[in-house]
Amino acid sequence: MIKSPRGTRDLLPPDTALWNFVEAAVRDVFRAYNFHEIRTPIFESTELFARGVGEETDIVSKEMFTWEDRGRAASDKGQSLTLRPENTAGIVRAYIEHKLWERGLNKFFSIGPMFRRERPQKGRYRQFYQIDAEVIGPASSGSESPARDAEILEMLATLLDRVGIANWTLELNSVGCPADRARFNDALRRALAPVVGKMCADCQRRAVTNPLRVFDCKVPEDQPIIAKLPTISQFLDEACRAHYEGVKQILNAVQIPYQENPRLVRGLDYYTRTAFEFTHGSLGAQNAILGGGRYDGLSEALGGPAAPGIGFAIGEDRLVLSLMETESAESVIRKPDVYIAPLGAGMNREAARLARELRRHDLVVDLGDESFRLKKSFEAADRMRARYILIVGENEVAADAFALKHLASGEQVTVPRGDLAQRILRNE
Ligand code: AMP
Repeated sequence: MIKSPRGTRDLLPPDTALWNFVEAAVRDVFRAYNFHEIRTPIFESTELFARGVGEETDIVSKEMFTWEDRGRAASDKGQSLTLRPENTAGIVRAYIEHKLWERGLNKFFSIGPMFRRERPQKGRYRQFYQIDAEVIGPASSGSESPARDAEILEMLATLLDRVGIANWTLELNSVGCPADRARFNDALRRALAPVVGKMCADCQRRAVTNPLRVFDCKVPEDQPIIAKLPTISQFLDEACRAHYEGVKQILNAVQIPYQENPRLVRGLDYYTRTAFEFTHGSLGAQNAILGGGRYDGLSEALGGPAAPGIGFAIGEDRLVLSLMETESAESVIRKPDVYIAPLGAGMNREAARLARELRRHDLVVDLGDESFRLKKSFEAADRMRARYILIVGENEVAADAFALKHLASGEQVTVPRGDLAQRILRNE
């Protein structure tokens, strides 16, 4: 038997109804904040992620699905391509490629699959879905302002509430600007030198290449050592400190609760200043529902103009998992309002005409086949939890009035064709 590849899964009904419910709710929220959808390719040139995410990150160094293109055209040959592991780099690439600032576009969202070759476990997959949003633009558009950070965070709180995720925690930090990070890195190197020998192999490597990454370490034995390391907050310059204060003041004003976490650094190279994560208790080890932050240097790192930005990626798989605690997929799925049972030769045509009329009234209609015995049609209607069954036999067609039975109460009435839709909509 051929199965889906390791770390991938089929999203099946009724669960897909929850996915649709989430996506519809987030689209509503994005509309209210004037974000517009952007759809970028699911594969990009490998160089984009090497530059935009960072060679030293786990994502780029270990987790990407990368291949050499074997296309016929000379320009394809030897081109290295990668399934996108995240979408900020792709959106910023599109922003630069299409000069989107010239059209005054600066708030984008996208929903789609991402790919990382990780060890699969609950809440961690090799193909997973992210809901991304990014605000990016020239500094003159206000893209650098702490008001943008606060707006993004307030939007996320609204979005989670709207979807029905209670008990989230917003963890907040500022990782400063590159100059702060350089001073912090020096201090970290000094602090790590006497202890790094006792840490995991990854941390030993990070201590040399990019000590900040030590904070990504999840190895339990390393945690007491990490807890004693200096934190970035001690190294922020005046402007970064003021920016961070500005974000917090607005959050306080709009009453969004947050917890400061000075060890939250995030795994990606291009983050500056604000960094955040929303976590949810129900998810166990993989408790981050979403993460994001400011990336003022990314556009330039990708060869674009100066364009400060901030964004986030929600793990949609994890959002749906959290939601499943309180909401069953069955409760959001719309069941058929009516199941039409054509009874006897020639009745499929009549049933099709009726189905077409009823669906025009926004009713959910399903139907069987004229070869079915009535018992079989009743069983089918029950299995799909239809509200009514409508029987279409020769006598009904002749009278242009149909037997409509309410399945829960068993009550049956004969309804003229013209009254059917209203009758079903009234739910009598
Ligand atoms: P990141 O791009 O690593 O900051 O991830 C943002 C969010 O995507 C995380 O908070 C998770 O909710 C989700 N996520 C990241 N990696 C995976 C994965 N392998 N499987 C499922 N969700 C993921």
